[in-house]
Amino acid sequence: MADYLVKALAYDGVVRAYAVNATETVAEAQRRHETWHTASAALGRSLVGGLLLGATLKGEDKLTVKIMGDGPAGAIIVDSNAKGEVKGYIQNPKVALPLNAQGKLDVRGAVGTQGLFTVIKDLGLKEPFTGQTPIVSGELGEDFTYYLASSEQVPSAVGLSVLVNPDDTIQTAGGFMIQIMPGASDEIITRLEQKLASLPRVSSLLADGMTPEQILETILDDTTIFYLETMPVQFKCDCSKEKFGSALITLGTSELNEMIEEDHGAETVCSFCGNKYHFSEQDLHELVQEIEGKKD
Ligand SMILES: [Zn+2]
Repeated sequence: MADYLVKALAYDGVVRAYAVNATETVAEAQRRHETWHTASAALGRSLVGGLLLGATLKGEDKLTVKIMGDGPAGAIIVDSNAKGEVKGYIQNPKVALPLNAQGKLDVRGAVGTQGLFTVIKDLGLKEPFTGQTPIVSGELGEDFTYYLASSEQVPSAVGLSVLVNPDDTIQTAGGFMIQIMPGASDEIITRLEQKLASLPRVSSLLADGMTPEQILETILDDTTIFYLETMPVQFKCDCSKEKFGSALITLGTSELNEMIEEDHGAETVCSFCGNKYHFSEQDLHELVQEIEGKKD
């Protein structure tokens, strides 16, 4: 079944709820980056978190999540938008740590416990919005939760979960985000907290065949759920040879001429999706001409 995200309201509109099955999205990222199991979980959780944050955007808005921890995974960067498209990068995809004390993939060990969690939102305004919080957990769900509460002042609960097969491929991946709006009673909050405390991991629920709607129904108990939208989600990179050409132009004429004379071409690799773009001598000559043309 194709990946999708649902947006809903509950408890007379004071609770906003999102759930997503991102299994194929994370599986594609795993294949493209050839991540090892702990890195698969760290990148996968980040992609799911990016999709959930992206679901709060509108129209052409987009955002970037930068997780700069002190663990062996290095930097993790995720780009997502309001259309359910996401791409991601992990500095070191070859991280395979022993399981943690709970017998789970040690995402905290891969990400680290010190560092910065940054969200940059491009809302089509002159300046992007930037929010930054310290990494508080390294397990990532708690870090997204802390960011939302601390930087955006939205009390939330974020669950991110990836089930990795013994061969490093992805079995299931998904998550939820519950946000409390002003006006929610203590009773509602307590009830949600109790439900969330006993909720199995989303990846296990997905493995049992549950849909995002059924996951929300489990969390939101027997309240009336008002579904706002169902949105397909996918791994999608917006790179192109043209974009890499523009990047090569910024290197300048002498650098490009050196590539022509010494390497007789250039190969660029997109760090988000792994796609390769080859520039022949002729392509590079055309880029040089473009620079020369602009000078006139
Ligand atoms: Zn790309």
